[in-house]
Amino acid sequence: MRFTIVTLFQGYFAGALESGILGRAREAGLVTVDFVDLRVFGEGRHRVTDDYPFGGGAGMVMKPGPVVSAIEVARAASPGCRVVLLTPQGRLFRQPVARELASAGREGPGGLVLVCGRYEGFDERIRPYCDDELSIGDFVLMGGEAAALVVIEAVARLLPGVLGAEASSEEETLSEGLLEYPQYTRPRSFRGAAVPEVLLGGHHADVAAWRRRQALVRTARRRPDLLDAAPLSDDDRRWARRAAADEA
Ligand code: SAM
Repeated sequence: MRFTIVTLFQGYFAGALESGILGRAREAGLVTVDFVDLRVFGEGRHRVTDDYPFGGGAGMVMKPGPVVSAIEVARAASPGCRVVLLTPQGRLFRQPVARELASAGREGPGGLVLVCGRYEGFDERIRPYCDDELSIGDFVLMGGEAAALVVIEAVARLLPGVLGAEASSEEETLSEGLLEYPQYTRPRSFRGAAVPEVLLGGHHADVAAWRRRQALVRTARRRPDLLDAAPLSDDDRRWARRAAADEA
């Protein structure tokens, strides 16, 4: 899948795109990341990309000309792409959105263009040139670069072949709308804390049932808001209700 990042700070991404699974996915050609340098489209001798807000107020606003020109160049280089403006005002980037973008990226040739803001954000007239707006959470970053990395990591790991074991993105937090069950590795006992017996017995059905219930209990206690949208059986819902009641 192809990602294109529109940014003033390409250097920000260097280490992150070369490291670990993402670095290997790029080497294997499963993921490509291109950049469009916003500075190139800056205006005047100093390649200015921001200006004072009309009406006054603190900070600078990203000028529409350079950002829209950069988006047009990105679109021309990736026909069929989806252009996403990164903004705290966008729809919340959650796991279902990551899945939606991964399947669109797998099927469509153009991939995803991620537009990173800086300063006090974008001139409003940039919005119609984008297909979507995403926020990675209810907080304000200094720029869209960290948000672009979050989106790339979350989407890329859902692409076929990117993770070593396909199962690792199928059985994890939020894959079925629940938080993941507790995980353990060696040693069997760590400072007096033992691994639950059921995980040591080798009975796959018992392990699966224990994990399902742990996921329900954990979700009911930590993120009860997720239970409404999760596909649950009547038995699951009973467990979840009991877990929430025990906690109260
Ligand atoms: N004044 C802007 C507002 O209230 O919407 C925020 C500007 S922020 C300081 C600068 C840039 O960081 C934004 O244009 C956006 O690209 C990025 N950004 C900040 N918080 C973000 C978030 N939660 N999700 C995605 N991008 C974010």
